[in-house]
Amino acid sequence: MAISDDDLIHLRRAVALAREAAESGDGPFGSVLVDAGGVERFADRNREQSTGDATRHPELEIARWAVANLTPDERAAATVYTSGEHCAMCSAAHAWVGLGRIAYVASAEQIAGWRQSEGSAPSAVAPLPITTIAPGLTVDGPVDELVPDVRALIVRAVRQG
Ligand code: ZN
Repeated sequence: MAISDDDLIHLRRAVALAREAAESGDGPFGSVLVDAGGVERFADRNREQSTGDATRHPELEIARWAVANLTPDERAAATVYTSGEHCAMCSAAHAWVGLGRIAYVASAEQIAGWRQSEGSAPSAVAPLPITTIAPGLTVDGPVDELVPDVRALIVRAVRQG
């Protein structure tokens, strides 16, 4: 599926949440759940540092919120927009709860590469593509025009340690 103008609006919102997370000292990641009617229903950002819980990824919070608040049909028709491609944990959660399409700005591979070139040790979790974890999902990304914004947030976060 191509990235539409509406997709870009929601992806920019995800990047704004990533920026908000970074400004609070958390990992620079943000995500938004949009229903079939194009309405934002839930949004969150990374909260790893502020909670001390490395599983506090916005995509996992979205999966949990969706189970509590949406029917299976609504979940399947929803789209999750995210600044960085879902990690393996969040890809699995997204698939287990039956959420629909994912659109991301920067890929896990891109993010891992930027971190590595800044001298970061490899992540504890392999940066696998979403579709390696959940082959049935519809996934769009990277979105080139927003990639520099996400790259800048990642690089700054690594440099600030
Ligand atoms: Zn994750």
